[in-house]
Amino acid sequence: MTAESPETCGLLVVVSGPSGVGKTTIVRSLRDRLDGMLSTSATTRPRSPQETDGEDYFFMDEARFRAMIDAGEFIEHAQVFGRHFYGTPRGPVEQALAAGRLVILEIDVQGGLQVRRNFPAAFMVFIDAPSEDELLRRLRSRGRDDEEAIQRRFAEASHERRLARESGAYDAFIVNETLEQACDDTCDLVRRAMREGVASVRG
Ligand code: 5GP
Repeated sequence: MTAESPETCGLLVVVSGPSGVGKTTIVRSLRDRLDGMLSTSATTRPRSPQETDGEDYFFMDEARFRAMIDAGEFIEHAQVFGRHFYGTPRGPVEQALAAGRLVILEIDVQGGLQVRRNFPAAFMVFIDAPSEDELLRRLRSRGRDDEEAIQRRFAEASHERRLARESGAYDAFIVNETLEQACDDTCDLVRRAMREGVASVRG
């Protein structure tokens, strides 16, 4: 590591957890309350009508995504739910870290494990639902997916939870009983990690 290493500057925070658990609200609250930079991922998944290219994601075809992999333009990438590709573009993250900023990634556990290897000083948070029944209820109440997609996301949740726990890569596990409390708890932890160092809030 050189003195200019991004790791020695800002703080990189990874937020993972099952679909429907409230991650997006939590990362937006981190961004707004702690003046963080929320990374915009690239994906090959089709854009939904509510989404804006360049804001929610950079939507692209698989050829372009693979070209970015080959050019080393992602700090991590993964095929999520065995289907579409998602990746974190390297440039904006490294620039913001070098400028001493808080950088927030909302990514799956496969991606989180890659970040853990490449950025050992990252702070990694896993958000979970209070129970499996509640997760299923939340997935259905979003009205975003058909029942088949809901079941796929639900099955993936158990896998991600196990991987996050067994890998030992995640520093904190937060149960989202109420969204407001989960936002407060996550912000408190990240604020402490920024002030006192990641080691002081691990475990
Ligand atoms: P969705 O299709 O619902 O927007 O996202 C599906 C999953 O992909 C979520 O668990 C989300 O956290 C994950 N994801 C989004 N962006 C990235 C990324 O850049 N890298 C990885 N590894 N996962 C991502």
